[in-house]
Amino acid sequence: MTTAKKASSPTGDPFLLTPGPLTTSPSVKEAMLHDYGSRDNTFIELNANMLESLINIVNGQGTHVSVPLQGSGSFVVEAMIGNFVPADGKVLILVNGAYGKRIVKMCDYYKRHYIVQETPEDVPVDAVQLDKTLAANADITHVVVVYCETTSGILNPLKKVSDVVAKHKRGLLIDAMSAFGALPLDTKEITFDAVVASSNKCLEGAPGLGFCIASESAMVKTEGNSPSLVLDLYDQWRAMQKTKQWRFTPPTHVILAFAQAIKEFEAEGNVSGRGGRYRDNHAVLISGMRDMGFKTLLPDALQAPIIVTFHMPTNPEFDFDQFYDGLRDQGYVIYPGKLTVANSFRIGCIGRLGKEQMEGALGAIKGMVETFGISQISYD
Ligand SMILES: *Cc1c(COP(=O)(O)O)cnc(C)c1O
Repeated sequence: MTTAKKASSPTGDPFLLTPGPLTTSPSVKEAMLHDYGSRDNTFIELNANMLESLINIVNGQGTHVSVPLQGSGSFVVEAMIGNFVPADGKVLILVNGAYGKRIVKMCDYYKRHYIVQETPEDVPVDAVQLDKTLAANADITHVVVVYCETTSGILNPLKKVSDVVAKHKRGLLIDAMSAFGALPLDTKEITFDAVVASSNKCLEGAPGLGFCIASESAMVKTEGNSPSLVLDLYDQWRAMQKTKQWRFTPPTHVILAFAQAIKEFEAEGNVSGRGGRYRDNHAVLISGMRDMGFKTLLPDALQAPIIVTFHMPTNPEFDFDQFYDGLRDQGYVIYPGKLTVANSFRIGCIGRLGKEQMEGALGAIKGMVETFGISQISYD
């Protein structure tokens, strides 16, 4: 085995090069060292500021509202579907990966009418086809798109999709979970009914909290739509307007961490600063991996700077489980592939990671390849 020194975060944890949960800063973790009651004024104010900051990120002051929700990201995705698509609505789901497929499943659970427009996992969703489908199907009320499909790391053409949906005057629902905070999403550019994301991806908070940012005019029309009480975003929104409080026990520690994470996001220069660091991470990663002979699934033009999918080498000596364990033992946690189109693994560029961690991971990968006795990464 390689003798490289074990890398670790300032709190002694391995670095998470994954799609989440992610490595957080010591100050974000420290923010959780307090117990606040849900009616504590300090907490209530912090919660209100958090919701306002989220609206600022999309430049939606005065036009958009934000509503938080307990749970992992999927909870708020499901809440968005249940709230914004009424029982007599019909949704067109643009699918090119596992997260799009999960939304199809949610529509099945909720018995929402839908049609699917699917492209392969390594092909962006098709805005031209979308235009034709909307023209031919006047009964489609909403379109759902995943901004960055974390399954492959592909960037979907959000602006084109938004323009087409707006032209046909339908509602756009966006799963921006793995993109929010790192890739541009401005209400002056992108027209949408609702967008959802979570505390623990590019905003680098602790996991446990999702949020929905919606145009107020779309939100006011969702009353009574939700088939679920706990996932009822309209009810959560109205209750919070009235009482400034969450309907059910708020994840207070997660919110404290998230408020600190948002401060650090703003200090880094908002979307351009955060996205810039991730772009640097992904450039270091891709060029280092290509130097070693690894191949990316996606051409650079389709790759979002969030997570990168690499084809699994075909060298018989390359054992993924050993590779994964060896990297983890050196302080770098990567992620298995989730693709149906190719055997692959993934390495994330997000979370509290910089050039030093990306280069450290590359060094560990090089060490593992040498440990396997592979002189040339091959694909045949
Ligand atoms: C992470 C993610 C989600 C939510 O996943 P959870 O495991 O429920 O947090 C949803 N959509 C996308 C695109 C994601 O990357």
